[in-house]
Amino acid sequence: MTKVNLGILGGGQLGSLLAISAKKLNIKTTIFCDDKNAPAQNYCDNFIFGDYEDSECIKQFINNVDLVTYEFENIPYETLHQINSQKKVHPKPEINRIIQNRLFEKNFINDLGIKTTKYKLIKKVTDIEQNEDLVPGLLKTCTLGYDGKGQFKINAINDLKNLKIDFKKNFILEKFIDLKKEISVVLTRFDKNSFEIYEPIENIHQEQILRTSKIPADIKNELKELSKKWAISISEALDYIGTLCVEFFIDNQDNLYVNEIASRVHNSGHLTINSHNVSQFENHLRAVCKLDKLNTKKLYNAEMINLIGNDILKYRNAKLQDNEFFFDYKKKDIKPKRKMGHLTRIFK
Ligand code: ADP
Ligand code: MG
Repeated sequence: MTKVNLGILGGGQLGSLLAISAKKLNIKTTIFCDDKNAPAQNYCDNFIFGDYEDSECIKQFINNVDLVTYEFENIPYETLHQINSQKKVHPKPEINRIIQNRLFEKNFINDLGIKTTKYKLIKKVTDIEQNEDLVPGLLKTCTLGYDGKGQFKINAINDLKNLKIDFKKNFILEKFIDLKKEISVVLTRFDKNSFEIYEPIENIHQEQILRTSKIPADIKNELKELSKKWAISISEALDYIGTLCVEFFIDNQDNLYVNEIASRVHNSGHLTINSHNVSQFENHLRAVCKLDKLNTKKLYNAEMINLIGNDILKYRNAKLQDNEFFFDYKKKDIKPKRKMGHLTRIFK
């Protein structure tokens, strides 16, 4: 049988880790990315560089691959849709259309009877003034935000005078909550009621960027069960295929809220490479390429530390402990706030 050639849109660290995992499963990978220096080109079989809206590149990509997945959710919907008309895209493009927009995403979650923080669509300054109950709050662009980009903290209505906000884009204003914990649930859905789920992962963010993730999460059992239940409901409602991550907030009163859904493998799931017999990446590939579903088991507890900016320099050439695993994404330039690599420690 000829090898499957899986197309992956996006060539960052998630694309790299998917391509590495694909090798083990004997799956060929073709990565299409708009970054000439995309690190995943070090690991894939074919690399196509070009704009995600360039019709020649899209054609070349479609001709090269058997089926397609993606490593980030901000790929233009039209591109996903066009590819999907010729080669299957998993997770399906319609899912991304919901998730790419914070308003659609939160409406979808609430319609399932699952709680999110309070929010309102904001199109102009007066919309904020009319929703004073959401202040202190965070103003977030509806589309294209990540790692805290496109967000403004509104501590008081008076702050608005000093903020330069471009209302050509739509925003949501989201009530700021007293965060006790942040967790995520990573799961891989293969088919209707057929999935593998990892236990909730506890995450610490600094300056809105993920710094550390660990299992087990130090939260009540009820919250572990509820977060898993909600993640499963979301994946079923989306008729999802592949690995999905649901991010949650827990406030000081132990209320659970869904923050957002990532329709892809997720940074907080990196520790599954070393903590589990099957990682989030392998499970994703198994689901989208229709390989066997293996019973996913935890082997170790673990913590993962993101190496951001210059942090990476400490670990390049450093001697590691027996329980430490170092990943260098081999990005061309070190930049502040850029995720450069990660370190995972496992524990019995
Ligand atoms: P991004 O899409 O950039 O990841 P998020 O909405 O997940 O944006 O926000 C990034 C981080 O900012 C969260 O992980 C959390 O630490 C903080 N944050 C976001 N929204 C709220 C909120 N409503 N209340 C308190 N903290 C928040
Ligand atoms: Mg987030």
